[in-house]
Amino acid sequence: MNTRHRTTVQEGLVIANHGHQLLIETREGHYISCVARKSAGGVICGDRVQWQASADGGVVVGVQARSAVLARPDQRGVAKPVCANLDQIAVVGLMQLENGELSASERARIDAYLAAAEMLDINALLIVNKIDLLSAEALAVAQRNLAPYRDAGYTVILTSARSGTGVAELGARLAGRRSVLVGESGAGKSSLTQILLPDRDIRIGELSTRLGRGKHTTTVAMLFHLPGGGDIVDSPGVRDFRLGTVEPATLARAFREFRPYLGDCRYRDCRHLDEPDCALALAASEGRLSPERLESYRAIVLGDGRKSRRPVTYTD
Ligand code: GDP
Ligand code: ZN
Repeated sequence: MNTRHRTTVQEGLVIANHGHQLLIETREGHYISCVARKSAGGVICGDRVQWQASADGGVVVGVQARSAVLARPDQRGVAKPVCANLDQIAVVGLMQLENGELSASERARIDAYLAAAEMLDINALLIVNKIDLLSAEALAVAQRNLAPYRDAGYTVILTSARSGTGVAELGARLAGRRSVLVGESGAGKSSLTQILLPDRDIRIGELSTRLGRGKHTTTVAMLFHLPGGGDIVDSPGVRDFRLGTVEPATLARAFREFRPYLGDCRYRDCRHLDEPDCALALAASEGRLSPERLESYRAIVLGDGRKSRRPVTYTD
């Protein structure tokens, strides 16, 4: 390797981070194993970086400014960035017991993901998978349960990884964007991803061999290119992502359809829990707002259904 090559700074995209080992895609579409120089700061999947060739791969020397970063709290509640430069969160939801109902806990989980997308100011999709299991009656129930999301302006896609229903529509919504698929384990994220990325297994094998080198490394996140453009970021860390500490005022704004009512409560610092003359409670009781969405909001504020029982902290 000549000296000139060694010192040339090149641009690349972080495809995977296995601890401090990174897999970089070069501008020419090659893959190279890199470590990050301390001065580069934390480098995560989806980062655009500057790197230089070294004797045994490459060294990341700088990271470009990021747009939306998905972070998730670690055991101590400290937000850890998982992936950068996202455009979209695709929430894969489960209709409980195949009867078309959404349980309160599943709804709160879905709503937390949708709120996270709002707070990151990126697009959100709601995918309801396994519709092959729903009878015509259950499908009608499901559609009723999904109406509040459609009314709030969310794109809702009904899919089946088994029959292929809705997969083309999902592909079209993912095209040209960098998305993460999130949702409860068993909802069908891997199955849908495998259909969308036919060469996924080959690529995983390829990447792990190049990077893992037989060591026991944990992949924090990995980025896959969709055949028609756009990327899917996948990682255990992203899949079971939880909303961290959020102030009620911030959370209420992240429920899109709540916005017209905010400011109309009797108390300026209303948390919309059990305060008198709450505009959201009134709207829900009069059918102008989904009572279930308000219930989800309250569950998130009160910290229900989360792994950690830490109270939500807020200042107003
Ligand atoms: P993940 O944990 O979200 O990645 O879920 P998986 O993709 O691993 O799917 C969990 C289980 O559900 C697997 O046994 C899949 O075969 C099954 N599954 C996934 N999608 C569908 C679907 O659309 N219809 C049916 N009937 N089963 C599905
Ligand atoms: Zn209120």
